[in-house]
Amino acid sequence: AGAAALAFRDRPAAMADGTPVSVLINIAEPAELDGLDPAICDGIGLVRTEFLFHAGRGLPDEEAQLAVYARIAAWARGRPVTIRTLDAGGDKPIAGLTVQEANPFLGLRGIRLSLTRPEVFRVQLRALARAAVHGNVKVMLPMVAVPAELERAGALLDEAVADLKAAGLPHARPPLGIMVEVPAAAISATRFPAAFYSIGSNDLTQYTMAAARDLGAVAELNDAGDPAVLALIASTVAAGAARGVEVSLCGDAGADLSLLPKLLATGLRAVSVAPVAVARVKAAIARC
Ligand code: PEP
Ligand code: MG
Repeated sequence: AGAAALAFRDRPAAMADGTPVSVLINIAEPAELDGLDPAICDGIGLVRTEFLFHAGRGLPDEEAQLAVYARIAAWARGRPVTIRTLDAGGDKPIAGLTVQEANPFLGLRGIRLSLTRPEVFRVQLRALARAAVHGNVKVMLPMVAVPAELERAGALLDEAVADLKAAGLPHARPPLGIMVEVPAAAISATRFPAAFYSIGSNDLTQYTMAAARDLGAVAELNDAGDPAVLALIASTVAAGAARGVEVSLCGDAGADLSLLPKLLATGLRAVSVAPVAVARVKAAIARC
C-alpha cells in the first residue's frame, strides 16, 4: 500500500458521503495476527480453521482447538471474531477426513462433511463454545445449501452447550451464521434463520458461473463482477436487511478495488479482506 493508503489504515472506513463501512480481516492461521494491531480493523470476518487439521498428527483435540480459538478471540479485544467451522473438501482436501470424488466441488465438503462426521464436528463446536467466553466469538458454517443443514448444526451446537453446562465448563452459545456461497442459499437467503450472512464470493462465483476457481482455462468466466453474481450478492444483502441481520462479504472480491463500488452499490456495508489489503480497501471505500 502507498503512503496515502496507509494513512487510512488506522481509521474506521467510510464512503465519500460519510457512510460507515466495516472492514474486517480474514486469517488462515493465527500467526498472521503476530504484530498486527486489532485497531486497524472492525474484527475478524473469517477465520479459516483448516490449518488445524493439516498438522499430520491426526485430528486436533478439543483443548488444542480451544487454545487457538481463545488466543484469536482475545487478540480482537472485544471486536467480533467469526470462526468458520471446518471447510474440508473441494479445493481443501484433508488426509483422513475427505474422500476421493470425481467432482470434489460438488461433493462432500464444508457443512456436508461435518454433518456426516458428527464425532469430529462435535469437538469443534465444543471448543468454539468454550472459546466464546474469551471474546466476541461468532460461528459460521461453510457451504450451506438448504435450511436443514443450519438446523442440524444448530441442534449439535445446542447439544454441545448442554454438555458443557452439565460438565461445569465455562462456555457461551455463540451466534450461528452461514456463508452464502452456494447459489441456492443466495437466491433464497431469507429461508435460513441464520444470525448473520457472510458472502463467500470465491465459491459463489464458481458455482454461479460453472467455472472452477482453480482452473486457468476458465479464469475469465470466473468473474465475481459478472452481473449474475452481483445480482446474487444484492439479493443476499436485501435478505439480510429484510431479516435485520448483518451481511458481510469475505471472498477475494472484497479486496478487488475495481469491484468495490459495485459491491457497495448493492447495499453491502461490510467486507472482510486479507490484513495486507486493509489500507488500500479503506482508501478505495473513501473514494466511493
Ligand atoms: C469464499 O468461498 O469466498 C470464501 C471466503 O471461502 P474459501 O475461499 O475459503 O472457500
Ligand atoms: Mg468458500
